[in-house]
Amino acid sequence: MAIEVRNVSKAFGDFQALGDVSVVVPDGSLTALLGPSGGGKSTLLRVIAGLETADAGEVLFDGEPVTGVPPQHRDVGFVFQHYAAFKHMTVRDNVAFGLKIRKRPKDEIATRVDELLKLVHLDGFAGRYPAQLSGGQRQRMALARALAVEPKVLLLDEPFGALDAKVRKELRDWLRRLHDEVHVTTVFVTHDQEEALEVAEQIVVINEGRIEQAGSPDELYESPATPFVMGFVGPVS
Ligand code: ADP
Ligand code: MG
Repeated sequence: MAIEVRNVSKAFGDFQALGDVSVVVPDGSLTALLGPSGGGKSTLLRVIAGLETADAGEVLFDGEPVTGVPPQHRDVGFVFQHYAAFKHMTVRDNVAFGLKIRKRPKDEIATRVDELLKLVHLDGFAGRYPAQLSGGQRQRMALARALAVEPKVLLLDEPFGALDAKVRKELRDWLRRLHDEVHVTTVFVTHDQEEALEVAEQIVVINEGRIEQAGSPDELYESPATPFVMGFVGPVS
């Protein structure tokens, strides 16, 4: 599903979190929203998900405005930095949760959960509890849970931010491969320039509630137009 954010503004009291933001996320792409802390990344993601209402502007899914459509009817899967797993449910039951709510037949749920656990390389962990998983495994479980109901859009808010560098690197590579397999339109929030350059097909730089640059990783790397990106690319030693 293609996403278009058109002239979206959002204020919290006097504070303008998003000012006239326009972004196009092509169908099936893996797009990074990159920017410093407080730049408006999460707010934009929440507006796309319908968890936050824009003051002005609109969001379109496949060309149709979704204004007023509640999050549960937007066909999006959401993964946050600190994944809130159901602690007293096994990995299998956590992943199956959305399918059970939708009252899918039991055998269909079992088959689907098996497929998903394979996809995220957690087959063999179905009977464990979240506390018995590593941080990286928990985030993969979160992705499986988000993918279970086959959303048209996957929104990831710094999903690997809380993990150590080595695990983050593994998960990045893995997310890229997963995306090659599943092709769901994905918007990935990060403040890590390297992560965006490595994972994304398109990078949108957002700072102080405004879009500063958008383009492919190569374009940003070769012609950085913002201090935030230039700070990373910097002089090559
Ligand atoms: P990012 O995800 O890029 O770090 P956010 O979108 O979370 O940035 O926040 C952008 C700005 O909006 C921050 O200054 C933050 O404090 C403010 N903000 C976000 N949500 C709220 C809220 N619910 N109430 C008040 N201010 C908020
Ligand atoms: Mg954030």
